[in-house]
Amino acid sequence: MLDAARHRADPADILLRDDEIAEIGAPGLAAPGDAETIDAAGFLLHPGLVNAHTHGHSNLSKAPGDLWTLELLLAAGPWISGGRGVEDKYLSVLIGACEMLLKGCTAAYDLMIEVPAPTKDGIHAAARAYLDAGMRAVIAPGAADASLYTSVPGLLDAMPESLRREAEGLSPGPAGGALAAVRGILQDWPFDRARVRPAVAPAIPLLCSDEFVIACRDLARDFEVGLHTHLLESKVQAVVGKARYGTTVTRHLAKLGVLGPHFTGAHGVWTDEEDMRVLAGAGANIAHNPGSNMRLGNGIARVKRMRELGVNVGIGTDSVTCSDNLNMYESMRLAAMSSRVQGPDTARWLTAEDCFMQATESSARALGFERIGRLAPGYKADIVFLDLGSINWIPYGDPTNRIVNLEDGTSVDSVMVGGRFAVRGRRLVHVDLATLKTRAEAAWAGIEGRVAEKRALFERLAPAVNAFCPAVAHRPYHVERFAGRGD
Ligand SMILES: [Zn+2]
Repeated sequence: MLDAARHRADPADILLRDDEIAEIGAPGLAAPGDAETIDAAGFLLHPGLVNAHTHGHSNLSKAPGDLWTLELLLAAGPWISGGRGVEDKYLSVLIGACEMLLKGCTAAYDLMIEVPAPTKDGIHAAARAYLDAGMRAVIAPGAADASLYTSVPGLLDAMPESLRREAEGLSPGPAGGALAAVRGILQDWPFDRARVRPAVAPAIPLLCSDEFVIACRDLARDFEVGLHTHLLESKVQAVVGKARYGTTVTRHLAKLGVLGPHFTGAHGVWTDEEDMRVLAGAGANIAHNPGSNMRLGNGIARVKRMRELGVNVGIGTDSVTCSDNLNMYESMRLAAMSSRVQGPDTARWLTAEDCFMQATESSARALGFERIGRLAPGYKADIVFLDLGSINWIPYGDPTNRIVNLEDGTSVDSVMVGGRFAVRGRRLVHVDLATLKTRAEAAWAGIEGRVAEKRALFERLAPAVNAFCPAVAHRPYHVERFAGRGD
């Protein structure tokens, strides 16, 4: 069983009771006579990985674009996330849950976006998908009350008249409808909160009025749930936010009373030192998504510094539309590597144990699940069994370094969530992949037709967005997060 901090994995027996770990001891640990025995010889056991940021709505649209910035991805939203019925939403979330489980991840924070606005049916479908796969999740219905086009000053003006009119037509519906839907979801939650629980998500502060953010803050407070948002993901958000608020987005959210231990900001790439202190002081969480940040050209988050200043930083994959897979082993590895791209000062790098703790205990804290992310008595029995006969482990060596720097998920043999196998012998226990493939491809065939016009509109808008937004990102800002700048 892995002891990440000590870089060891000594033989151990684990006694489970109900859905929890009751006791851990040396081999030969006493167990009740009627206990079922699972032989884990030849396997390395580690706590289930916890994905601090993903988007269940997008798993039917894997890797849709290539040279996309965040702003192009947002412009593509109606195409790549629209046109879905309730069954499509269920399938989309189920695909993600299956991928995560097969790759050793047992819980996720899902910022679930429905186009044009959240619905109770859609969010309930997402919850059922996680439950059916056998995974834990926090599901935050994402919403906003402004579009990219009205939120980035000058973007509409830079467009020819006819295109501008089309872009103006893309604003989300009135805020009241989205907020009422979210309130309804929070009021009527029929699922076991130890497995799936709801949260609130003003999706991106830049796309939300202050009134909308404040209403979300109050919903989170009244229903005692988490609040999840994208925080300073791109430089465009940093530059436009500072011009709009007269201060940074982080400090503006602090002024609105949004930050607290229940707050999880995805990314935080463009946070400055004072932002980090404010987040730490509030007990707030950051979900670090290094794959997405590099994929979209958003820069490298200063995770080591955030941690030094006391910010809890979990690790996530983000969406399949911007990091293409939901592989937490890859996210850990990229977290380690991306901390190193700016120079040879090893004191500024994340260690393997830093990354492992972030992808387990720190992410668990960001989700608000109290007793997951660790193999210890009193914790949930969310356990990954890595096959030490896999090529990644031949020959055997330092387990913490291997898991973070080498493992790619191909050694995952079995995955237990709450003491029950969701993956066993490399196969999903509750979902038949062949059936899922048939259903997903039929669903996508229908969606493709329904979003064809939205795709065509994206293709008309993309050149204008891509001519304007990168220029905004080249305006001066008081911190630098792009790597390898210079000649
Ligand atoms: Zn995201």
